[in-house]
Amino acid sequence: MRIIIFGPQGAGKGTQAGKLVEETGAAHIATGDLVREEIKKGSELGEKIQEYNDKGELVPDEIIIEMTKPHLDKHDGWILDGFPRNQAQAKALDEALEEIDEKVDRVIALEASDEDLVKRLSGRRQSEATGKTYHIEHDPPPEDSDEDAGPFVQRDDDTEEAIRKRLETYHEETEPLKDYYEEQGILVTVDASQGIDEVTKEVMKAVGEDK
Ligand code: AMP
Repeated sequence: MRIIIFGPQGAGKGTQAGKLVEETGAAHIATGDLVREEIKKGSELGEKIQEYNDKGELVPDEIIIEMTKPHLDKHDGWILDGFPRNQAQAKALDEALEEIDEKVDRVIALEASDEDLVKRLSGRRQSEATGKTYHIEHDPPPEDSDEDAGPFVQRDDDTEEAIRKRLETYHEETEPLKDYYEEQGILVTVDASQGIDEVTKEVMKAVGEDK
């Protein structure tokens, strides 16, 4: 299956994508991870996109599309996380899939209030060793270093100013895509303010993996 996990930062897209990967065997393509990997490499491209990432601004469409495209036909099934984020990217995705005679099967939109999201994001920590994310209150990093050695750091774009900026961009540019996918009859919305397990249950139902 080709699934888009959609929603604002902090709604739990990464967590639910991980569960979907376990359940379906699909690949997880997270454009934010692709961006951070490129920055970590210190490549010329990485240097160019770091400023956007750190400020919580979108990387220009042509760059992110070129970075994402090669991953789309590398796998039979995928969970796309963090892409598309605006109309131009949604169109580019449709065109890229048409070229390989494929289409998106389901778009799962996670929904939560801005207040909840700001709280979640400011407590988020990411392991430098594994890339896995934790939350200082709800899902603290393990103390046993065999499980995950860390260190557990705050992302450069998880400052309050960058979080606010990212949410604003989400509402303005990304959220309207829900209508686009609703019109295609492939959108399922899930209340992401519930506990992780409840959200997972609804996500699995949305992709027919709830038996
Ligand atoms: P994320 O981990 O999805 O919050 O992404 C982190 C950062 O990567 C974003 O704030 C953007 O700077 C960049 N990024 C990730 N995905 C996209 C996208 N689809 N379009 C533009 N920029 C993106």
